[in-house]
Amino acid sequence: MIMSPSTVRTRTSAFDAARLRDDFPILREQVNGKPLVYLDNAATTQKPRAVTDAIARYYAHDNANVHRGLHELASRATDAFEGARERVARFFGVADAAEMVWTRGTTEAINLVAYAWGLDRLRAGDEVLLSVLEHHSNLVPWQMLAQRTGARLRFIDIDEQGRLDLSALDEVLTKRTKLVCIGHVSNALGTVNPVAHIAERAHAVGALVLVDGAQSAPHLPVDLPALGCDLYAFSGHKMCGPTGMGGLWGRRDVLETFAPFHGGGDMIDTVELESSTYAQLPNRLEAGTPHIAGAVGLAAACDYLAGIGRDAILAHERALMTYALERMAEVPDLTVYGPADPAERSGVVSFTLGDVHPHDLATILDGEGIAIRAGHHCAQPLMKRLGVGSTARASFYLYNTAGDVDRLMDGLERARRLFGL
Ligand code: PLP
Repeated sequence: MIMSPSTVRTRTSAFDAARLRDDFPILREQVNGKPLVYLDNAATTQKPRAVTDAIARYYAHDNANVHRGLHELASRATDAFEGARERVARFFGVADAAEMVWTRGTTEAINLVAYAWGLDRLRAGDEVLLSVLEHHSNLVPWQMLAQRTGARLRFIDIDEQGRLDLSALDEVLTKRTKLVCIGHVSNALGTVNPVAHIAERAHAVGALVLVDGAQSAPHLPVDLPALGCDLYAFSGHKMCGPTGMGGLWGRRDVLETFAPFHGGGDMIDTVELESSTYAQLPNRLEAGTPHIAGAVGLAAACDYLAGIGRDAILAHERALMTYALERMAEVPDLTVYGPADPAERSGVVSFTLGDVHPHDLATILDGEGIAIRAGHHCAQPLMKRLGVGSTARASFYLYNTAGDVDRLMDGLERARRLFGL
């Protein structure tokens, strides 16, 4: 039985998505003469007024460079910047804000681990365990590192529903495994991976665990100490925050072993002509003038999401996904990838329609005002594993409604007609 849109609304009454939409001015845009339906949230999310106002307020009232100044604005900017770090740390359940290192996003955070930790630690014969689900950001840095160190990359495979096949975990996790790098949620299929279980097994062989949290930080209630990993990378722009802003959380004892990576201002204690000593965490891993307004905006985004409640956001997305999967199951020629059970995925659904190229599908939907993504989703090895060149992908967030799903389904019906399916 297909749930009606009103059932979806009832199930998600913990908050009112239709009312939350008022917080996002961009959702009132018309696209190709139609009201915008934004279903490209796995690529980036829209920003609520609370975030854009916080950034504008910072620039209008507090802007200065941080840490070094002795004037009033410099101390206001420093307070805003370091206060933001504390708020973001708290959002993730982290008590020690010095464990929260700012980066430009997930990609930079993963590269930071690869260079500041991996370059000195990995040797020929060591192994790094990844999965075939990974985004290129969690593959390419390790390939580059493997080439430089002689370390070997190994991979966890998936089952027919795009879930990690953990039956062979004990074969691929050995004493040689130094690092396990795993996505918490697949950006291409939405699969939610059992990170805590993998972390427990990885720790048993002495490996560190880095989680790519790009797609979990926005959608799941993430409590980092409870998750069981050692390092966690995330991007602000995928969780209502600004672009160019994200972070790497790491257990203090793990971050303490990182070599300084970028050298420059702010990451030093003393500098001589020939040598330097370095600052404490987190500054030693943050050279140069940081993205101060970005930190302010990201903290505002975290406050905004916490105010709504991440359990409520997850319940809403799961209800939307349940409705979408039920409706999609009724469309002839539509193939849906990823777990069948909505409880095993976040708000991401990848699909193909007959032999229609996903790019054509996205273009037709765009004509209807519906924004989806089509392509390899920065997961080319996964596409190869699934035996497809590309897929279309719709991804939901807190401001999407059952009406958006209905518009998507109408758009798919129109595409079927246009292609004579
Ligand atoms: N990892 C996953 C799972 C992602 O979905 C993305 C972005 O799509 C990234 C990493 C890279 O994030 P960013 O481009 O913000 O660094």
